[in-house]
Amino acid sequence: MPGRLIGLSVDSQGNPALRMALQTREQHIKREKATSNICTAQVLLSIMASMYGVYHGPKGLTGIAGRIHGLTQTLAESLNTKDITVENKHYFDTLTIKVVDAAKAIKNCADAEINIALVDTTHIRISIDETHTISDINKLATILTEKKTESKQAETCQLKVPEHFARQSDFMTHPVFNTYHSEHEMLRYIKLLESKDLSLCHSMIALGSCTMKLNATAEMIPVTMPGFGQLHPFVPRNQATGYTQIFEELTHALKQITGFAGISLQPNAGAQGEYAGLLVIREYFKSINQSHRNIALIPSSAHGTNPASAAMAGMKVIVTKTLDNGYVDIDDLRAKAEQHKDNLACLMITYPSTFGIFEEQITDVCDLIHSNGGQVYMDGANMNAQVGLTSPANIGADVCHLNLHKTFCIPHGGGGPGMGPIGVAAHLVPFLPGHTVVNMGGDSHAMTAVSAAPWGSASILLISYAYIRMMGTDGLENATKYAILNANYIKARLEQHYQILYVGSKGRCAHEMILDTRVFKGATGVEAEDIAKRLMDYGFHAPTMSFPVAGTIMIEPTESEPKSELDRFCDAMIAIRNEVSAIENGVADKTDNVLKNAPHTASVVTADEWNHIYSRQDAAYPLAYVRGAKFWPSVGRINNTYGDRNLICSCPPTEAYAEQATN
Ligand SMILES: *Cc1c(COP(=O)(O)O)cnc(C)c1O
Repeated sequence: MPGRLIGLSVDSQGNPALRMALQTREQHIKREKATSNICTAQVLLSIMASMYGVYHGPKGLTGIAGRIHGLTQTLAESLNTKDITVENKHYFDTLTIKVVDAAKAIKNCADAEINIALVDTTHIRISIDETHTISDINKLATILTEKKTESKQAETCQLKVPEHFARQSDFMTHPVFNTYHSEHEMLRYIKLLESKDLSLCHSMIALGSCTMKLNATAEMIPVTMPGFGQLHPFVPRNQATGYTQIFEELTHALKQITGFAGISLQPNAGAQGEYAGLLVIREYFKSINQSHRNIALIPSSAHGTNPASAAMAGMKVIVTKTLDNGYVDIDDLRAKAEQHKDNLACLMITYPSTFGIFEEQITDVCDLIHSNGGQVYMDGANMNAQVGLTSPANIGADVCHLNLHKTFCIPHGGGGPGMGPIGVAAHLVPFLPGHTVVNMGGDSHAMTAVSAAPWGSASILLISYAYIRMMGTDGLENATKYAILNANYIKARLEQHYQILYVGSKGRCAHEMILDTRVFKGATGVEAEDIAKRLMDYGFHAPTMSFPVAGTIMIEPTESEPKSELDRFCDAMIAIRNEVSAIENGVADKTDNVLKNAPHTASVVTADEWNHIYSRQDAAYPLAYVRGAKFWPSVGRINNTYGDRNLICSCPPTEAYAEQATN
């Protein structure tokens, strides 16, 4: 099972607290032994679907389903004529219909601005959904039967599914699905949930490797335009000329940015791009009779998706060493490339690396792989430090993916949706993914689709398109320079207080850096998690924790943050370092301190009882700026051990939380 699990734990006050866990077979932990390479998922979309369930509830959903089923039956009845036969005995919302001339039926419908599906020369298929009305049904029936139909909406309908499939049990019985059925209630419920979230609306989110940059409103508005948002992925191409133009212009821009000859907009996330790119390499080897090549060399510094994707693509992963200074160990890489030269398929390398440095010998590395018969896959998730300054083609790579939801502004805070197009050099272009339903212009070498829709999550491509067009060439290059400058500014302010794990030979980092917080553990007991939780008291979301190096913190500011915000973040990090020093110097207690007890909720700070040896002020208002914009965390420190034992949520009703809170 891919992804994350939501379970129920308790917080430091004994209140129930939902807790998200990494699944133990997932790529961050198990790498090439993972059972999934999913990193960015479709979380935002599942949240939308869940809110639909919350609003309508079981009664509402049953009503909607009944209406759809009734309209479908009305359509089926009005279509059963001499020349037309509905072929389904059982159905819910979809009818397969035998007609004399399917092409003619489709054309007649299209002339009336209705798209229906072609099955073969004498069959069409129609699906009804809740947005349709009885007048749509009458219109369809009139066109297909060629005689005026005026059916009335049926009051009730018979179930046209086999009786034993009819649901007997209750469903969605949890109070959350039975409470918020008016717009006001729903609005307040969503707002309540939102208010618990420390987001980019409050402060910078310095998640390293995630590139949490500005998602400008101007970029996102077009997603909601019906002309884009309501198109079906298989709509006839002549009805989507606007989209076609955008795909072409975006493809052109991404070719220029990567330096590559071809782009596929199909993969839905970075990890899916990796998978697609590796399959392209496999198809290429097949075409030159070298399909035995199946070894992927991957430096140990790589993101967990790299080995997981390689394993999914049927490759054998061999991990190469990293030097103490964070660089790829070229000698080890050379030895392994030569040892496996007869079966070498590729190297997967992230540039700049996930350790936050530009591998200075990257072009030699690419040459080394090519001279041993392999291809170079460059993980382009860190393109935010490359755009306009260099490119995957420039360093000598053959394939790369881009995370449009990182570098190119698609919001992905809750975990997607993402877009992970791949770029490839000329010799790989013929193998880019095609599609069985939609002609994507490739020839017979095109491999099979990697995603159900021909252009992936096409609607969010508009965001990256708008970003690229509004920034222009100079703007994009400046963004890269500022991303690197901002990271080095933070580094310069923090390096007197924290150890920076890896820097380049000139003492600089790329667009992100790792702080080594493991050094505090021995003397103070303070761990990365304590710092991450304490940042919430200062109004900041935690940076990336324990990735890619366990026990450390990784920071990436991006170009979007102004100097004032970088300073506020640095002030908080330095103040926290002083709190660690206070423990080191014996001024603060080793167990009862602001770090170990963080985050401090409003109910803890305002409780009649206060048993800590530090003050409430130190807990909740550690720096002057916090007063102006206090964010109150809604749960205290979560009990991880309890959470591990209660990995999957048994979902008690919301009242249970209220009862607990008043106890
Ligand atoms: C984010 C990231 C990935 C995975 O991208 P998803 O879109 O989350 O699948 C791969 N490699 C690196 C270096 C990344 O930062």
